[in-house]
Amino acid sequence: MFYWKDPIEWEKDILEKMVRLYCKAKHQKKTPCHDCLEMIAYAKNRLNSCKYGKVKPTCGNCPIHCYKPIMRDRIKEVMRYAGPRMMIVHPLDAVWHLIKSKTQK
Ligand SMILES: [Zn+2]
Repeated sequence: MFYWKDPIEWEKDILEKMVRLYCKAKHQKKTPCHDCLEMIAYAKNRLNSCKYGKVKPTCGNCPIHCYKPIMRDRIKEVMRYAGPRMMIVHPLDAVWHLIKSKTQK
């Protein structure tokens, strides 16, 4: 797989974009609300301590579920909402993530 960005940094970037999309729609905030900021910080923290490092699978494919259950539920909801919309708002990120997760199967 060819990367033109650090995969961990990119996942963080994608994640933040998704949470921002979600918060804007669901919580009517221009900037992420406290809960959503907390979620971004938590997820970035998990990515930082991901033991796979640069060969990390996409989070959906990862055999290790490192999120605590409450955060996992919240992130899942964000993904459900923001996933399809990423194609429209940030197509490059969405396509890359899709290719990456398909090639790992
Ligand atoms: Zn929010």
